[in-house]
Amino acid sequence: MSEDAAQYAVTPVTDPDAPLDVAAIRAQFPILERQVHGKPLVYFDTAASAQRPRAVIEAVSGFYETKNANIHRGVHLLSQEATDAYEGARTRIAKFINAPSRDELVFTRGTTESINLVAQAYLRPKLGPGDEIVVSRMEHHSNIVPWQMLCEQTGATLKVIPITDTGELDLDALDDLLTPNVKLLGIVHVSNALGTVNPVAEICALARERGIPVLVDGAQAAPHQRVDVQAIGCDFYCFSAHKMYGPTGIGALWAPMATLEAMEPYQGGGEMIRKVSFEGTEYAPPPGKFEAGTPNIAGAVGFGAAVDWLEGLGLDRVAAYEARLLAAGTEKLLTVPGLRIVGTAKRKAGVISFTLDGIHPHDIGTIIDHYGVAIRTGHHCAMPAIAHFNLPATARASLGVYNTVEEFDVLVDALNGVREMFG
Ligand code: PLP
Repeated sequence: MSEDAAQYAVTPVTDPDAPLDVAAIRAQFPILERQVHGKPLVYFDTAASAQRPRAVIEAVSGFYETKNANIHRGVHLLSQEATDAYEGARTRIAKFINAPSRDELVFTRGTTESINLVAQAYLRPKLGPGDEIVVSRMEHHSNIVPWQMLCEQTGATLKVIPITDTGELDLDALDDLLTPNVKLLGIVHVSNALGTVNPVAEICALARERGIPVLVDGAQAAPHQRVDVQAIGCDFYCFSAHKMYGPTGIGALWAPMATLEAMEPYQGGGEMIRKVSFEGTEYAPPPGKFEAGTPNIAGAVGFGAAVDWLEGLGLDRVAAYEARLLAAGTEKLLTVPGLRIVGTAKRKAGVISFTLDGIHPHDIGTIIDHYGVAIRTGHHCAMPAIAHFNLPATARASLGVYNTVEEFDVLVDALNGVREMFG
């Protein structure tokens, strides 16, 4: 753990069984002190973007205050310190997901860019008419649209794994879809729209038997459970810092070195080269090969602080706390007349999508904002998943490690208020 993270760690990681001190965690989030429409903020929109603890805010501002300079190639001290901070963050983030090597961790703008990078730099050169890409119906648009674009570019076909009415993958259909034509399977680890936790290790094992590489979209898993890319057995893992209590505009792609080495560069420019001449250009080895241009240096530093902070809490304790919160919150929400939960998988993470009979989700969200409660309403960038339930939209309460059972009481009160308004 970095010094910054140690300063803010709530309970020693050496005691994995101690419950989280949520009051102490909340005290580390300055934004939770603010009021919204004169009411204390109740933030249930972590799946869209988490709030940031002081450890992250101060890591970013501290970088700008004391180390700011461009990285790599600089001979002056500030540049060397900035490089150490950037590359140090890479090392810690790689360790966070148990990557075998820090050089396998490519910084990107986030999950979306990571997936586009794989589509264009890995798959595009291998793909042609007759080839297939498989994704599921519960994917975020960022794990659908890049593949659709790639299919248009190459003549390949996108196939879709159906989902059940509980919001789980139809695993029999998946089995049938994994034919020799499939050149990549893209699957979400935890659905942002339904909360479903997919059995990614089993799916990767099945795909591996058939020689099909798997990309896992880990945007909603990395903040909420321990992620071990080696145990999962995937070929690509994508995640975003801002869902993990870190800054926006930074995320990562993990892939094994041999895969990264064999891939084409994604973008050309400075930083990604070893040697340039008009006779030809030699690329830098990974991860530099995929990081053209000046990167989001302060973002990487903040990302490193965010994973330190999560490690300081202990991912297993975070997962255990959020599971209890999800169970208690679900029970409370079900007391609201006419409330229906959309996505009732056996294995769920902290996302509760719901509808209220006869009331549009946007009305729900707008009204309860005046109770200080922030939820998200709409299709959650997962239109096909929501359409499966014959709905245009849902309301979604999503959890972070700072939420409490008492905040669900506020949400339930607010929803009952909505009910009364609509008679
Ligand atoms: N995948 C999932 C499951 C998500 O929830 C999100 C964001 O909501 C993304 C991908 C896209 O992440 P980003 O916008 O950080 O690239």
